[in-house]
Amino acid sequence: MESQRSHKRRKGSDPGIVAPQQHEILWFPDGNIVLSTDVYLFKLYKGLLSMKSSVFRDMFDLVDAGAGRDDDDMVQEMYDGVPLVTLVGDRGEDVVHLMRAVFEHDFYHRDDKNTPLDVVTALLVLSTKYDFRELRKEVVMQISQQYPMSLKDFDYIDRYEAPLFGRPQSECDITLLKGAYNAGVDALLPILFLHCASQSMVSILCEVNSMNPECLCILLKGREKLGTRVDQFLMDLPERLQETSKVCKSSNADICKKGHYIELSLLARSYYRHTQFDLLYDFLHSECKSCATSVEKQVNKNRKEIWEEIPSYFGYPGWDDAKAKLKELIAS
Ligand SMILES: [Zn+2]
Repeated sequence: MESQRSHKRRKGSDPGIVAPQQHEILWFPDGNIVLSTDVYLFKLYKGLLSMKSSVFRDMFDLVDAGAGRDDDDMVQEMYDGVPLVTLVGDRGEDVVHLMRAVFEHDFYHRDDKNTPLDVVTALLVLSTKYDFRELRKEVVMQISQQYPMSLKDFDYIDRYEAPLFGRPQSECDITLLKGAYNAGVDALLPILFLHCASQSMVSILCEVNSMNPECLCILLKGREKLGTRVDQFLMDLPERLQETSKVCKSSNADICKKGHYIELSLLARSYYRHTQFDLLYDFLHSECKSCATSVEKQVNKNRKEIWEEIPSYFGYPGWDDAKAKLKELIAS
């Protein structure tokens, strides 16, 4: 992984680069390593970072091994009397979130629903990149608590959309999908893909430039499969109602047997939420109570079948597999 620039560089290189500034919190005067990013410098402790992150441990081993040598055209960069390592490809603000979570006891709590989204995604991506194993587990647990993998919980979240990580939940979906995909957290991906598939095409297309193309492809293909299945489900409803009403004993039996819905076409937008019976009931025309109850049972059975198929639309084995992976990750 190209996680850091070589700790040695050619003399006189990089002219004219705007110098990053010392971070006001993450600058310990007795620290023994300086990390440099696009906008900030951090003076931190090698020992503590090495204990928590295998990538930093290996990086510092290289720094230590190079410290005693002085080749003709290469020098160890130093800053404020200690070795300097440049972190390539990380935004300074994201590194601030990571390092504050590592060095400040009260900065980050996994059970906090109000952790800003920027912090959650920075911790997910950078804890993976630098192998902060414990921190990665915490943040995966935090996200999984807010994106549970049961139909009942999904319906609840879909319907009541409570704020999450300082935003409406739907605004978190795509950002978290991008982060989890880049961090390779398979356990979170099926449920995040499903939430993102509930977004409008416009919302998804706004993310095209910042989303991994493979991830975007999986999302769009899965969304299409889900949409086709939902539309098929909706179009079959009148037929299904006729079947359930065959034995209707009410005085209005002939109405029930027509399998009559009103304006069902209004729901033909391919969203899984449109399969909820509470919603469908408004489109049922004058059914007797007994037939409506039978239809509800049938609808709930069918939407459970679709629910079980959903992970496969995005190329995943199933909910049980995702739950097992989550358990394994947290126990590792
Ligand atoms: Zn009936």
